[in-house]
Parts: sequence; C-alpha cells; structure tokens
Amino acid sequence: MDDHVITLNAGSSSIKFALYANGDEWPKMLATGQIEALGLIPEFEVRRAGDKNKTKRTLDGADAPKNHSDGVKIILGWLESAFPGLRVGAVGHRVVHGGKKYSHPTVVDDAVLRDLESFTPLAPLHEPPNVAGIVAAKKAFPGVPQIACFDTAFHRTQPFVADTYGLAPQFYDEGVRRYGFHGLSYEYITRRLADIAGQNADITNRVIICHLGSGASLAGAKRGKGISCTLGFSPLEGLPMGTRCGQIDPGVLLYLMQQKQMSASEISDLLYKKSGLKGMSGVSNDMRDLEASADPRARQAIDYFIYRIQREIGSLMAALGGLDTLVFTAGIGSNSPTVRAEVCQGLGWAGVELDGQANKSRGTELISAANSRVRVYCLQTDEEAMIAQHTLRVAGLAKAVAAE
Ligand code: AMP
Repeated sequence: MDDHVITLNAGSSSIKFALYANGDEWPKMLATGQIEALGLIPEFEVRRAGDKNKTKRTLDGADAPKNHSDGVKIILGWLESAFPGLRVGAVGHRVVHGGKKYSHPTVVDDAVLRDLESFTPLAPLHEPPNVAGIVAAKKAFPGVPQIACFDTAFHRTQPFVADTYGLAPQFYDEGVRRYGFHGLSYEYITRRLADIAGQNADITNRVIICHLGSGASLAGAKRGKGISCTLGFSPLEGLPMGTRCGQIDPGVLLYLMQQKQMSASEISDLLYKKSGLKGMSGVSNDMRDLEASADPRARQAIDYFIYRIQREIGSLMAALGGLDTLVFTAGIGSNSPTVRAEVCQGLGWAGVELDGQANKSRGTELISAANSRVRVYCLQTDEEAMIAQHTLRVAGLAKAVAAE
C-alpha cells in the first residue's frame, strides 16, 4: 500500500506543498511548506506537523530552482530525506479552473492535461502555473497518479440562473459563465458542518459560507451542494478583496477604455492588484493593518467590505429561501472577531445574533447566542486536507471512502 499523498498548489512564482499519510476519516498532515520567488532568489520554507516554527532557507547559487520542474525536485528531495521510507501513492493538485466540463476531482491523463491547457483563456493568471505544476510532478513521480482538484467544481451544481449572465446564449455556450471559485474551501466547510450537524440535519439546510481571506467570496449551499457564489466568470466579482475590486459596473470599464485610453493590461492590473482593501485605503491589503490604522480611508475600506458582505448575505438568503447557518472562515473570517461582529450586527433582521464572548474566544466554533434563530460558526478551512482526501479516494487508496 502506498501510504502517502503529496498536495501541490503551483502559482506563477511559488509552489505550496503538503505531505499527508492515509488516515481513517481525514488524511493526517505530516508536513507543509512552500517555495517562493521561483526564478528569482527563492526561499524554501517547511514545517513538520507538531513543530511550532517553520524552517526557512534561501536557495541560491547552483541550488536555485528556475522553474516549477526544479522546484518540485527540491520538494521531493527534502521529503525523501525528512521521511525515510516515503511511499508516494498519488499527487493531488489544486487547479483553479475546471471549465464547464469538470465537476469532480479527476485523474490527469494526456487528454485531461490538454483540456486544462485549453482553459487558460478563462484563467490566464492561474491555469498555466497549475498545469506547469502537474507537468513537473508527472516527471518527478513517473507512474504515480496525478489528481486535479478544481476550485470551480463545488459550484457546478448551481442552477442556470445562478450560472449565467444576461447575455445571448452563444456566450453561455462558449463558456462565459459564473464558475465561482474557492470551491475546495467551501467543500471542506460543508463536510465539517455535516460532521458537526450529525443527526441535526437542519444545520445544513440553508447555509451561507463567508470565505474571507485575501481573496474573498460568499457561497450559498443547500445540504452541502452549492447553489450560488459571489465570484463569477473570474475571481474579480462580488466582494472587495485584498487587492481586487469586487462588484463593478461594466460601464466603468468602458469609461476607462474610452475616456482614459487605458489598455486591457492596465485595466487588469488596476482591477486585480490596485483595488479592493489596498486600493481603497492606500494603506494595505492586510485587514490587520487596516484594523490598526487611524487613517479614515482604512475605516472606509473596512466599512465597504462589511457593507458588501451584508448585502450579499441578503441576496444569498433570497436565493436560498432563508438561512439556517452562517459560517465564517479563511484568514479574516477565522481570525477577526471585529469583522465577524460588524457583519452580524447588521443582520439582526435575518435572525442572526452573536454571542459576544464566544465570538472573541479563540478556537470556539459555535459563536451565536443561544436564542439566535441562525446558528453562526467560526471554522478553520483546510483546502489541502480536502485535496488530500479527494486524491486518496480518486487514486483508490482511501481507507475510508468519503461520500461524494
Ligand atoms: P488567507 O488568504 O485566507 O490566508 O487570508 C489572509 C488574510 O487574512 C490576510 O491578508 C489578513 O488580511 C487576514 N488576517 C489574518 N489574520 C488576521 C487577524 N488576526 N485579524 C484580521 N485579519 C487577519
């Protein structure tokens, strides 16, 4: 039995990885790490399970990985020396876009790899490095199954009205759809919620999950199935994010092009990198900096973030036909009691009432007041564990078969 799986999340200049051992329900994480600044002066950072601190070293000189293939070799070299007897049964990859075709994790053969390459126009910043990571891992682990786990897959159950824009059908047919993202996080949270619910299935009936990290979105789920997401065709729609704008009138783009003569790449740079919390505040993309700042523009950026979350919760409640459970997760959602309190303060009308103490107490999962009509949870997401579980199952290695 090949007992280990590696998860890889390849970005344009980084590779994040984790090593898992086969486990009963959830695989057991043994180590995590990343290589950053590939092609420049890369930093290699690792942490074994149980270690408090990360070990970091610079990869310079002849050691310096120039591309994803070099990077994967370095990761494999470290894993083999740190875990003698390592037997990798499969490698799981985070892939941002599965197009309209992929609604489940999939073994990557040559035909699937060609499909993933063909999705590049849909996710030009993310899909090429994801594919490069798979190609590199195929070379480093010959014969070992490579499993693609898609950030869009969770949302493929959403109905047509949540999946489309108001354009002629030819655009929908060629793939201009509301794909949604952060799906591995949403899937992990819905599984955790099902565990928490046990026999009390009402908890999973009508759920809104607030994935608030440097990328931020909300999704509505009915009994674990995605019905609508604030992210759409690209990772720009919906909430303002660390550096991305969120909802914007397409007329603004026409104005930028026609009146300001901005090019497509200038507009892309503005919307992806110079907007959101960072662009609005002029202070930082990090919520911790904004919360600590006395600059009124930092406060305005937080106010806008909270306002959009509340509006989108109202909108998703209409799509769900009510609300039983609200979940906060990801960097801001899990770690900022202030953001959670401000969001919930405006939602008394929806039956949301926080327990102020529970909300502030680190590690407490159920944070709503006993008389709150809606249950509110603060849960840690774990996209890597979700990838590892899918990978074990799809590769036929899982001890316990998780339900789809
Ligand atoms: P993620 O993308 O999920 O890793 O989230 C990263 C973001 O979480 C950072 O950019 C911070 O804005 C935010 N964050 C992390 N810790 C805290 C905290 N204690 N309070 C507020 N925001 C936080």
